Amino acid sequence: QTLHRAHNFNAGPSALPLSVLEKAQAELLDFRGTGMSVMELSHRSAAYDAVHNEAIALLKELMGIPDGYEVLFLQGGASLQFSMIPMNFLQQGQKAAYVMTGSWSEKALKEAKILGVGEAYEAASTKEENYRRIPSIDELKYQPSDAYIHLTSNNTIFGTEWKEYPNTGDVPLIGDMSSDILSTPVDVSKFSMIYAGAQKNLGPSGVTVAIIRKDLLEKANNNIPTMLRYETHAKNNSLYNTPPTFGIYMLGQVLSWVKESGGVEAITKQNVEKANLIYDVIDQSGGFYIGHAESGSRSLMNITFRVKGEELEKQFLVEAKQEGFIGVNGHRSVGGCRASAYNAVPYESCLAFSDFMKKFMAQHG
Ligand code: PLP
Repeated sequence: QTLHRAHNFNAGPSALPLSVLEKAQAELLDFRGTGMSVMELSHRSAAYDAVHNEAIALLKELMGIPDGYEVLFLQGGASLQFSMIPMNFLQQGQKAAYVMTGSWSEKALKEAKILGVGEAYEAASTKEENYRRIPSIDELKYQPSDAYIHLTSNNTIFGTEWKEYPNTGDVPLIGDMSSDILSTPVDVSKFSMIYAGAQKNLGPSGVTVAIIRKDLLEKANNNIPTMLRYETHAKNNSLYNTPPTFGIYMLGQVLSWVKESGGVEAITKQNVEKANLIYDVIDQSGGFYIGHAESGSRSLMNITFRVKGEELEKQFLVEAKQEGFIGVNGHRSVGGCRASAYNAVPYESCLAFSDFMKKFMAQHG
């Protein structure tokens, strides 16, 4: 019987590399001779410790994380980071700047405002342009005294992505990289903190990675609950309480796969080829397909577009589903179509989808 694998364009959780799933399957019942599944290991055991530390070491290697940064495995998703960041790093009388590039930036800012400590404000926003583009670095307005400046590197819902990050000097730069971490090389040293929910490019949901520079950690508030303090997790190598062990194991396997695939640069090359298969169809469709993002801000990960005419768009989505393309509906808040081509989505799936788009246009254009 041949294995059925869907063309998975889900925005998240999303595709995992087949070889990773196969390895996890093979190791499921007896992990490295322990006679236990990795899920059954004590998080205080040597066997688990190796899994945990291998994952941290691989992430440091693949992202080129310089010395002086902590890599933490947290829970609560990227969404909890929206609250933990201001709790830890924004103090009474301080301000924090948020660059508004989409719904996730809005959520991050909202949480900082709920907290009511310090003042969170917009450093720039492209909301009036329906978040079609990333603001230019010149448009960012923030103050040298700000506690931090926060941005969303890839806007999963609108399909835009930063191409170049600002040098923010003494103002700590914090990036939500949930939907493009490891898709393209990043100069980590520009950031004081990078965080990402794992469920797009890193592994299954349930683990959130936070990479934090120690000098920022040292400035953190300590009058907050123990579990919500980064310092708690940093001091305990993310083993203060029971971590999501299976998720961290899977994350380590995905990182090994990235390394075996040639590292982040090789993955980027693939990602560009994959995304271009679809963007080219949009650009050459004479307005049949209408891309949402301005070309200079296009995401390699989430390709957002409309089909000319509401009825035709509905039909496109129905037929895409019938042809086996999963998750092509746009986010419920914006509609339209979105193909999420994360690292683990095979080239063949993108090729098949671009062929489907061409065929649909030939029949209905
Ligand atoms: N930030 C971005 C850019 C996202 O795409 C998402 C989820 O899709 C989130 C944050 C929220 O992540 P989580 O579901 O892990 O809380």
